[in-house]
Amino acid sequence: MTTPLIELQALLAQPRQVFITTHHKPDADALGSSLAWAGYLKQHGHHVTVVTPSDYPGFLSWMAGNDEVVVYDKRQNDRQVRDLVQRAEVIFCLDFSCLGRINEIGEYVRNAPGTKVLIDHHQQPEDFADINFSNPGAAATAELVFEIIRDLGGQAEITKAMGEALYAGIMTDTGSFRHPSTSRNVHLIIAELLSAHIDLSAVHRRIYDSHTEIRLRFLGFVLKEKLVVNREFNTAYIAITKEELREYDSKTGDTEGLVNYALSIEGIVFAAIFIDRGSAVKISFRSVGDFSVSDFSRLHFEGGGHHNAAGGISYVPLDATVERFLGLLPQYKEQLVGEPVAAAPP
Ligand code: 5GP
Ligand code: MN
Repeated sequence: MTTPLIELQALLAQPRQVFITTHHKPDADALGSSLAWAGYLKQHGHHVTVVTPSDYPGFLSWMAGNDEVVVYDKRQNDRQVRDLVQRAEVIFCLDFSCLGRINEIGEYVRNAPGTKVLIDHHQQPEDFADINFSNPGAAATAELVFEIIRDLGGQAEITKAMGEALYAGIMTDTGSFRHPSTSRNVHLIIAELLSAHIDLSAVHRRIYDSHTEIRLRFLGFVLKEKLVVNREFNTAYIAITKEELREYDSKTGDTEGLVNYALSIEGIVFAAIFIDRGSAVKISFRSVGDFSVSDFSRLHFEGGGHHNAAGGISYVPLDATVERFLGLLPQYKEQLVGEPVAAAPP
Protein backbone atom coordinates (compact mmCIF):
# COMPACT_ATOMS: atom_id res chain seq x y z
CA MET A 1 0.00 0.00 0.00
CA THR A 2 1.33 3.39 -0.87
CA THR A 3 1.09 6.15 1.69
CA PRO A 4 1.83 9.86 1.39
CA LEU A 5 5.09 9.24 3.26
CA ILE A 6 6.23 6.54 0.84
CA GLU A 7 5.30 8.75 -2.11
CA LEU A 8 7.22 11.64 -0.55
CA GLN A 9 10.21 9.44 0.12
CA ALA A 10 10.28 8.34 -3.52
CA LEU A 11 9.92 11.92 -4.68
CA LEU A 12 12.85 13.07 -2.56
CA ALA A 13 15.11 10.13 -3.43
CA GLN A 14 17.12 12.38 -5.74
CA PRO A 15 18.04 16.08 -5.48
CA ARG A 16 15.11 18.22 -6.59
CA GLN A 17 14.29 21.80 -7.44
CA VAL A 18 11.93 22.63 -4.59
CA PHE A 19 9.51 25.51 -4.13
CA ILE A 20 7.99 26.04 -0.68
CA THR A 21 5.20 28.49 -0.07
CA THR A 22 2.81 29.38 2.73
CA HIS A 23 -0.18 31.61 3.37
CA HIS A 24 -0.66 35.38 2.95
CA LYS A 25 0.76 37.34 5.90
CA PRO A 26 2.63 34.34 7.30
CA ASP A 27 2.48 33.77 11.03
CA ALA A 28 5.01 31.87 13.14
CA ASP A 29 3.58 28.49 12.16
CA ALA A 30 3.51 29.32 8.46
CA LEU A 31 7.06 30.68 8.37
CA GLY A 32 8.53 28.38 11.03
CA SER A 33 7.26 25.19 9.43
CA SER A 34 8.37 26.38 5.97
CA LEU A 35 11.88 27.32 7.08
CA ALA A 36 12.43 24.18 9.16
CA TRP A 37 11.24 22.04 6.26
CA ALA A 38 13.50 23.99 3.91
CA GLY A 39 16.40 23.39 6.31
CA TYR A 40 15.82 19.65 6.27
CA LEU A 41 15.52 19.48 2.48
CA LYS A 42 18.72 21.50 2.02
CA GLN A 43 20.56 19.09 4.29
CA HIS A 44 19.52 16.41 1.80
CA GLY A 45 20.92 18.16 -1.22
CA HIS A 46 17.73 19.67 -2.61
CA HIS A 47 17.73 23.13 -4.11
CA VAL A 48 15.10 25.00 -2.12
CA THR A 49 13.43 28.40 -2.39
CA VAL A 50 10.89 29.63 0.17
CA VAL A 51 8.45 32.18 -1.22
CA THR A 52 5.87 34.03 0.87
CA PRO A 53 2.88 35.67 -0.87
CA SER A 54 3.30 38.82 1.25
CA ASP A 55 5.54 40.34 3.89
CA TYR A 56 5.38 39.14 7.48
CA PRO A 57 5.99 40.53 10.97
CA GLY A 58 9.51 41.62 11.94
CA PHE A 59 9.31 39.50 15.09
CA LEU A 60 9.74 36.41 12.88
CA SER A 61 12.90 37.56 11.15
CA TRP A 62 15.20 35.73 13.61
CA MET A 63 14.32 32.38 12.05
CA ALA A 64 17.17 30.62 10.25
CA GLY A 65 16.74 30.95 6.50
CA ASN A 66 14.82 34.24 6.79
CA ASP A 67 17.45 36.07 4.75
CA GLU A 68 16.84 33.89 1.70
CA VAL A 69 13.05 34.09 1.73
CA VAL A 70 11.63 35.60 -1.45
CA VAL A 71 8.74 37.89 -0.54
CA TYR A 72 6.39 38.07 -3.50
CA ASP A 73 5.66 41.53 -4.80
CA LYS A 74 3.49 41.84 -7.89
CA ARG A 75 5.48 44.85 -9.15
CA GLN A 76 8.96 43.74 -8.18
CA ASN A 77 9.37 40.01 -8.74
CA ASP A 78 6.27 38.52 -10.34
CA ARG A 79 8.30 37.12 -13.24
CA GLN A 80 10.95 35.61 -10.98
CA VAL A 81 8.35 33.90 -8.77
CA ARG A 82 6.39 32.62 -11.76
CA ASP A 83 9.59 31.10 -13.19
CA LEU A 84 10.47 29.53 -9.85
CA VAL A 85 7.03 27.89 -9.62
CA GLN A 86 7.19 26.74 -13.23
CA ARG A 87 10.68 25.23 -12.89
CA ALA A 88 10.05 23.51 -9.54
CA GLU A 89 9.96 19.73 -9.58
CA VAL A 90 8.27 19.72 -6.19
CA ILE A 91 5.98 22.41 -4.76
CA PHE A 92 5.30 22.26 -1.03
CA CYS A 93 2.25 24.15 0.24
CA LEU A 94 2.45 24.63 3.98
CA ASP A 95 -0.12 25.87 6.49
CA PHE A 96 -2.94 26.73 4.11
CA SER A 97 -5.65 24.64 2.55
CA CYS A 98 -6.92 26.54 -0.49
CA LEU A 99 -4.93 28.21 -3.25
CA GLY A 100 -6.83 31.49 -2.78
CA ARG A 101 -4.77 31.98 0.40
CA ILE A 102 -1.56 32.57 -1.58
CA ASN A 103 -2.91 35.35 -3.80
CA GLU A 104 -1.44 35.51 -7.33
CA ILE A 105 0.87 32.57 -6.63
CA GLY A 106 -2.20 30.32 -6.29
CA GLU A 107 -2.88 30.15 -10.01
CA TYR A 108 0.83 29.75 -10.82
CA VAL A 109 0.90 26.73 -8.50
CA ARG A 110 -2.35 25.30 -9.84
CA ASN A 111 -1.00 25.36 -13.41
CA ALA A 112 2.57 24.29 -12.63
CA PRO A 113 3.92 20.93 -13.82
CA GLY A 114 5.71 20.02 -10.56
CA THR A 115 4.39 17.58 -7.97
CA LYS A 116 2.30 19.41 -5.38
CA VAL A 117 2.51 18.39 -1.75
CA LEU A 118 0.17 19.83 0.88
CA ILE A 119 1.26 19.86 4.52
CA ASP A 120 -1.47 21.54 6.53
CA HIS A 121 -3.88 21.45 9.46
CA HIS A 122 -6.78 23.62 8.25
CA GLN A 123 -10.30 22.33 7.75
CA GLN A 124 -11.80 21.51 4.36
CA PRO A 125 -8.68 21.30 2.17
CA GLU A 126 -9.11 22.11 -1.49
CA ASP A 127 -8.30 19.16 -3.73
CA PHE A 128 -5.27 20.47 -5.62
CA ALA A 129 -2.28 18.53 -4.31
CA ASP A 130 -0.81 15.25 -5.56
CA ILE A 131 0.37 14.21 -2.11
CA ASN A 132 -1.60 15.20 0.94
CA PHE A 133 -0.47 15.56 4.52
CA SER A 134 -3.64 17.27 5.66
CA ASN A 135 -4.58 16.76 9.28
CA PRO A 136 -7.05 19.21 10.86
CA GLY A 137 -6.49 17.38 14.14
CA ALA A 138 -2.92 18.66 14.33
CA ALA A 139 -2.25 21.72 16.46
CA ALA A 140 0.16 23.25 13.97
CA THR A 141 1.74 22.62 10.60
CA ALA A 142 5.04 22.61 12.49
CA GLU A 143 3.79 19.53 14.36
CA LEU A 144 3.22 17.79 11.02
CA VAL A 145 6.62 18.85 9.68
CA PHE A 146 8.29 17.45 12.80
CA GLU A 147 6.47 14.13 12.30
CA ILE A 148 7.33 13.93 8.62
CA ILE A 149 11.02 14.56 9.32
CA ARG A 150 10.91 12.00 12.14
CA ASP A 151 9.11 9.43 9.97
CA LEU A 152 11.63 9.96 7.19
CA GLY A 153 14.29 9.02 9.75
CA GLY A 154 15.71 12.54 10.04
CA GLN A 155 14.97 13.51 13.63
CA ALA A 156 18.63 13.56 14.59
CA GLU A 157 19.21 16.11 11.84
CA ILE A 158 16.87 18.67 13.39
CA THR A 159 19.24 21.47 14.38
CA LYS A 160 18.68 23.96 17.19
CA ALA A 161 17.67 26.57 14.61
CA MET A 162 15.18 24.26 12.88
CA GLY A 163 13.83 23.17 16.26
CA GLU A 164 13.27 26.77 17.35
CA ALA A 165 11.37 27.54 14.14
CA LEU A 166 9.16 24.49 14.74
CA TYR A 167 8.72 25.38 18.40
CA ALA A 168 7.61 28.91 17.44
CA GLY A 169 4.93 27.46 15.14
CA ILE A 170 3.56 25.09 17.75
CA MET A 171 3.78 27.65 20.55
CA THR A 172 1.80 30.31 18.68
CA ASP A 173 -0.80 28.04 17.08
CA THR A 174 -1.62 26.49 20.47
CA GLY A 175 -1.86 29.94 22.08
CA SER A 176 1.21 29.07 24.18
CA PHE A 177 -0.09 25.57 24.93
CA ARG A 178 -3.57 26.68 26.02
CA HIS A 179 -5.90 25.66 23.21
CA PRO A 180 -7.63 22.26 23.24
CA SER A 181 -5.37 21.28 20.32
CA THR A 182 -2.49 21.03 22.82
CA SER A 183 -2.36 17.26 22.85
CA ARG A 184 -0.09 14.80 24.57
CA ASN A 185 1.58 14.44 21.18
CA VAL A 186 2.33 18.17 21.14
CA HIS A 187 4.08 17.98 24.50
CA LEU A 188 6.01 14.88 23.45
CA ILE A 189 7.22 16.71 20.35
CA ILE A 190 8.32 19.68 22.46
CA ALA A 191 10.26 17.24 24.66
CA GLU A 192 12.00 15.95 21.52
CA LEU A 193 12.75 19.50 20.38
CA LEU A 194 14.33 20.17 23.76
CA SER A 195 16.69 17.31 22.95
CA ALA A 196 17.78 19.43 19.98
CA HIS A 197 18.74 22.09 22.58
CA ILE A 198 16.17 24.69 21.59
CA ASP A 199 16.08 27.77 23.81
CA LEU A 200 12.37 28.02 24.41
CA SER A 201 12.34 31.11 26.56
CA ALA A 202 14.36 32.91 23.90
CA VAL A 203 11.66 31.99 21.36
CA HIS A 204 8.92 33.32 23.68
CA ARG A 205 10.82 36.56 24.16
CA ARG A 206 11.53 37.09 20.47
CA ILE A 207 7.86 36.64 19.59
CA TYR A 208 5.91 38.03 22.54
CA ASP A 209 8.28 40.49 24.19
CA SER A 210 9.60 42.42 21.24
CA HIS A 211 7.03 45.23 21.04
CA THR A 212 7.90 48.72 20.05
CA GLU A 213 6.68 51.38 22.47
CA ILE A 214 4.11 52.66 19.98
CA ARG A 215 2.74 49.14 19.47
CA LEU A 216 2.10 48.80 23.18
CA ARG A 217 0.40 52.22 23.26
CA PHE A 218 -1.72 51.09 20.31
CA LEU A 219 -2.79 48.08 22.38
CA GLY A 220 -3.77 50.43 25.22
CA PHE A 221 -5.77 52.59 22.86
CA VAL A 222 -7.58 49.59 21.35
CA LEU A 223 -8.52 48.13 24.74
CA LYS A 224 -9.65 51.48 26.14
CA GLU A 225 -11.41 52.97 23.15
CA LYS A 226 -12.21 50.30 20.62
CA LEU A 227 -13.30 47.17 22.42
CA VAL A 228 -17.07 46.62 22.35
CA VAL A 229 -18.64 44.06 24.66
CA ASN A 230 -22.07 42.78 23.73
CA ARG A 231 -23.44 40.75 26.64
CA GLU A 232 -26.66 39.86 24.85
CA PHE A 233 -24.69 37.56 22.57
CA ASN A 234 -21.61 36.90 24.74
CA THR A 235 -19.64 38.54 21.97
CA ALA A 236 -16.85 41.11 21.99
CA TYR A 237 -15.36 42.84 18.99
CA ILE A 238 -12.93 45.51 17.85
CA ALA A 239 -13.06 47.57 14.65
CA ILE A 240 -9.99 49.54 13.59
CA THR A 241 -9.99 52.22 10.92
CA LYS A 242 -7.26 53.01 8.39
CA GLU A 243 -6.65 56.34 10.13
CA GLU A 244 -6.07 54.63 13.49
CA LEU A 245 -3.59 52.24 11.92
CA ARG A 246 -1.77 55.20 10.43
CA GLU A 247 -1.83 57.20 13.66
CA TYR A 248 -0.10 54.37 15.50
CA ASP A 249 2.29 53.68 12.62
CA SER A 250 0.95 50.12 12.42
CA LYS A 251 3.26 47.57 10.82
CA THR A 252 2.60 44.04 9.62
CA GLY A 253 1.96 41.91 12.70
CA ASP A 254 0.99 44.79 15.00
CA THR A 255 -2.66 43.74 15.10
CA GLU A 256 -1.87 40.07 15.66
CA GLY A 257 -3.25 38.71 18.92
CA LEU A 258 -5.51 41.72 19.64
CA VAL A 259 -8.61 39.61 19.09
CA ASN A 260 -7.54 37.32 21.93
CA TYR A 261 -7.97 40.15 24.44
CA ALA A 262 -11.62 40.36 23.44
CA LEU A 263 -11.98 36.64 24.04
CA SER A 264 -10.25 36.84 27.41
CA ILE A 265 -13.24 38.58 29.03
CA GLU A 266 -15.13 36.30 31.37
CA GLY A 267 -18.31 34.94 29.76
CA ILE A 268 -17.36 35.97 26.21
CA VAL A 269 -17.49 33.03 23.79
CA PHE A 270 -17.17 34.81 20.44
CA ALA A 271 -14.66 37.51 19.52
CA ALA A 272 -13.91 39.35 16.30
CA ILE A 273 -11.58 42.01 15.05
CA PHE A 274 -12.24 44.02 11.89
CA ILE A 275 -9.34 45.84 10.34
CA ASP A 276 -9.76 48.28 7.49
CA ARG A 277 -6.96 47.48 5.06
CA GLY A 278 -8.21 49.92 2.44
CA SER A 279 -9.04 47.51 -0.36
CA ALA A 280 -11.01 45.29 2.04
CA VAL A 281 -11.78 44.68 5.68
CA LYS A 282 -9.73 41.81 7.07
CA ILE A 283 -11.42 39.90 9.86
CA SER A 284 -10.22 37.50 12.55
CA PHE A 285 -12.66 35.40 14.54
CA ARG A 286 -12.05 33.44 17.74
CA SER A 287 -14.34 31.37 19.93
CA VAL A 288 -14.31 29.13 22.94
CA GLY A 289 -16.27 25.91 23.02
CA ASP A 290 -18.76 24.59 20.48
CA PHE A 291 -19.36 27.66 18.34
CA SER A 292 -17.51 27.11 15.06
CA VAL A 293 -15.93 30.30 13.77
CA SER A 294 -14.60 28.48 10.70
CA ASP A 295 -18.20 27.66 9.69
CA PHE A 296 -19.32 31.21 10.52
CA SER A 297 -16.49 32.71 8.51
CA ARG A 298 -16.95 30.38 5.56
CA LEU A 299 -20.69 31.05 5.42
CA HIS A 300 -20.64 34.81 5.80
CA PHE A 301 -17.16 36.21 5.16
CA GLU A 302 -15.53 34.12 2.42
CA GLY A 303 -13.12 32.70 4.96
CA GLY A 304 -12.31 29.61 6.97
CA GLY A 305 -9.65 28.22 9.25
CA HIS A 306 -10.09 26.22 12.42
CA HIS A 307 -13.05 25.52 14.69
CA ASN A 308 -12.01 28.15 17.28
CA ALA A 309 -9.78 30.42 15.15
CA ALA A 310 -10.62 31.59 11.67
CA GLY A 311 -10.32 34.54 9.35
CA GLY A 312 -12.34 36.14 6.61
CA ILE A 313 -12.74 39.18 4.43
CA SER A 314 -15.38 41.80 3.65
CA TYR A 315 -15.57 44.16 0.70
CA VAL A 316 -18.06 46.62 2.17
CA PRO A 317 -16.87 49.56 4.33
CA LEU A 318 -15.82 48.96 7.94
CA ASP A 319 -19.03 50.31 9.53
CA ALA A 320 -21.22 48.35 7.16
CA THR A 321 -19.17 45.21 7.81
CA VAL A 322 -19.67 45.56 11.56
CA GLU A 323 -23.40 46.17 11.03
CA ARG A 324 -23.64 43.04 8.94
CA PHE A 325 -21.79 41.08 11.61
CA LEU A 326 -24.12 42.34 14.35
CA GLY A 327 -27.12 41.51 12.18
CA LEU A 328 -25.98 37.89 11.98
CA LEU A 329 -25.69 37.34 15.73
CA PRO A 330 -29.40 36.78 16.55
CA GLN A 331 -29.53 33.62 14.43
CA TYR A 332 -26.65 32.19 16.50
CA LYS A 333 -28.06 33.28 19.85
CA GLU A 334 -28.73 29.78 21.10
CA GLN A 335 -25.15 28.66 20.37
CA LEU A 336 -23.71 31.82 21.87
CA VAL A 337 -25.73 32.05 25.06
CA GLY A 338 -26.50 28.37 25.60
CA GLU A 339 -29.92 26.88 26.16
CA PRO A 340 -32.74 29.43 26.27
CA VAL A 341 -33.50 30.15 29.91
CA ALA A 342 -36.72 28.41 30.98
CA ALA A 343 -39.44 30.69 32.20
CA ALA A 344 -39.64 30.92 35.98
CA PRO A 345 -42.47 28.83 37.42
CA PRO A 346 -45.52 30.90 38.35
P1 5GP B 1 -5.87 34.86 11.87
O1 5GP B 1 -7.16 35.34 12.40
O2 5GP B 1 -4.86 34.66 12.96
O3 5GP B 1 -5.39 35.62 10.70
O4 5GP B 1 -6.17 33.40 11.30
C1 5GP B 1 -6.80 32.40 12.07
C2 5GP B 1 -6.81 31.13 11.26
O5 5GP B 1 -7.70 31.26 10.15
C3 5GP B 1 -5.45 30.79 10.67
O6 5GP B 1 -5.30 29.39 10.71
C4 5GP B 1 -5.53 31.30 9.26
O7 5GP B 1 -4.71 30.57 8.40
C5 5GP B 1 -7.00 31.15 8.92
N1 5GP B 1 -7.45 32.25 8.07
C6 5GP B 1 -7.24 33.57 8.27
N2 5GP B 1 -7.80 34.31 7.29
C7 5GP B 1 -8.38 33.43 6.43
C8 5GP B 1 -9.11 33.58 5.20
O8 5GP B 1 -9.36 34.69 4.71
N3 5GP B 1 -9.52 32.43 4.61
C9 5GP B 1 -9.28 31.20 5.15
N4 5GP B 1 -9.73 30.12 4.49
N5 5GP B 1 -8.59 31.03 6.28
C10 5GP B 1 -8.16 32.13 6.93
MN1 MN C 1 -0.97 26.90 11.44
